[in-house]
Amino acid sequence: ATIAGLLADTATRWPSRPAVVFREQGIRWTWAQFQAEVDRLAAGLLALGLQRGDRVGIWSPNRFEWLTTQFATARVGVILVNINPAYRLSELEYALNASGCRAIVTARQLRSSDYLGMLQTLAPELAQCAPGQLKAARLPHLEFVIRMGEERTPGMLSYAEVLERGRGVGAAQLEARSAALGCFDAINIQFTSGTTGNPKGATLTHHNVVNNARFVAQAMSFSEQDSLCIPVPLYHCFGMVLAVLACVATGAQMVFPGEVFDPVATLSAVAEERCTALHGVPTMFIAELDHADFATFDLSCLRTGIMAGSPCPIETMKRVVAQMHMREVTIAYGMTETSPVSFQSSAQDDLQHRVTTVGRIQPHLEAKVVDGVGEPVPVGEKGELWVRGYSVMKGYWGDEQKTRLAVTDGWMHTGDLATLDADGYCNIVGRVKDMLIRGGENIYPREIEEFLFRHPKVQSVQVFGVPDAKYGEEVCTWIVLKPGEACTEDEIRAFCREQIAHYKVPRYVRFVPEMPMTITGKAQKFVMRERMVQELG
Ligand code: ATP
Ligand code: MG
Repeated sequence: ATIAGLLADTATRWPSRPAVVFREQGIRWTWAQFQAEVDRLAAGLLALGLQRGDRVGIWSPNRFEWLTTQFATARVGVILVNINPAYRLSELEYALNASGCRAIVTARQLRSSDYLGMLQTLAPELAQCAPGQLKAARLPHLEFVIRMGEERTPGMLSYAEVLERGRGVGAAQLEARSAALGCFDAINIQFTSGTTGNPKGATLTHHNVVNNARFVAQAMSFSEQDSLCIPVPLYHCFGMVLAVLACVATGAQMVFPGEVFDPVATLSAVAEERCTALHGVPTMFIAELDHADFATFDLSCLRTGIMAGSPCPIETMKRVVAQMHMREVTIAYGMTETSPVSFQSSAQDDLQHRVTTVGRIQPHLEAKVVDGVGEPVPVGEKGELWVRGYSVMKGYWGDEQKTRLAVTDGWMHTGDLATLDADGYCNIVGRVKDMLIRGGENIYPREIEEFLFRHPKVQSVQVFGVPDAKYGEEVCTWIVLKPGEACTEDEIRAFCREQIAHYKVPRYVRFVPEMPMTITGKAQKFVMRERMVQELG
């Protein structure tokens, strides 16, 4: 099915069941209402003259317009380009030009970043142009800036105006466009998180994401009786596929607590809307569990959800099961380039497997763990994980060379170190790039992180290597302490010395107020490493 087909099926089946709640914007739609909103916007996009295969960017936190734009672009065959809400001028310019966006749909602002102001700086020509006539020197492909809301801004169209223009477009015209689309059409240029460097734009098709969403929903036994709380950003495939498309595939309700993640808004949404499921990256669950008011929320309605995106600490998994009532919580492992999930635990797996592995391979996918030359390693040994099947991206947009390096013979090289056991359960050991070699010993930061995480004063911890003249690399750890705690470097080292091999004990320990993070809540070790290299001279 296409993305639009998926929505049409659900809206036909459950027209008056609740579909979408945006608490911050006060939106509550049934499936029929949601479908109608999508069609109004789709008609507007047709009225602007957008063609099948054209690119349209979206730059926004979690707002209802994000959702309607996702489905309206899919309905008319336009490729949606997800632009990271954290981007600033030069990254925005790069993303728009590299993908050749003809239009951008944008929020006014996010916290202190003024999105409209940044666009006006990149395209000062906006002030002199009629909407749709933009010719900007720095953004040569861009014709339309569509700003959310009703206000008018020189040179831009408001979202309301686009809907207005769509009134002249007949339903038959829209159906004709939709009917012409194929499920192997590209539908999305989805940027990776930028955890290891610059984000890369993965080109995904309807076939990739719709099927992935179906299998993910199946592993959680989702149905129209479920209601999912979605604090993860829509810009990322976690929000877009594992949350939104999984709900649309099954008729489950989507509840958005707010524009950006906030632990209290999330817990209130779960309790007040009686959600049965909750998604999040580990840092989000930790923020919720550790919040001073955690115990005041009635979360007994929760049943399942997904924790994914980065290594999920075993302790956190156990607390999510015990304290948040998410007895069927699943861990998913994946990456943007595989639409995204390839491994997922299921409610049938016993707790031990669910808290210590990322489960087994999804149906219709293959996996192998290989050594440096691409040969499978023996069962249980560490190597790079490769994945092949329906979910592997078409390629990195406009970058054949990078694609050829990342995908060989259909196998996606994940860049992650993993082990597979005899029953097919997968354990993610860390990133290939993060493994450090100290005086000839391979060190896996994740192992040390799991260990330090058990220290009673530690709230979060990252371990990485820094260059060292004597040993090649040395172990460094950055630690965020729990509120009100104080701790010394020696205390941390002493804690380690009793328990782990001497060469794994961090040489450098730094206490920091927070980690450098991607917007998807992942710690950017390359940023930490750069700062340490500077500090150590
Ligand atoms: P970039 O590729 O730009 O450096 P990124 O790899 O973080 O960023 P994503 O595609 O958002 O971008 O994330 C995929 C990666 O997240 C995986 O390759 C893996 O390292 C990590 N990951 C995802 N799920 C899990 C999980 N359950 N356990 C451990 N790691 C995970
Ligand atoms: Mg990656």
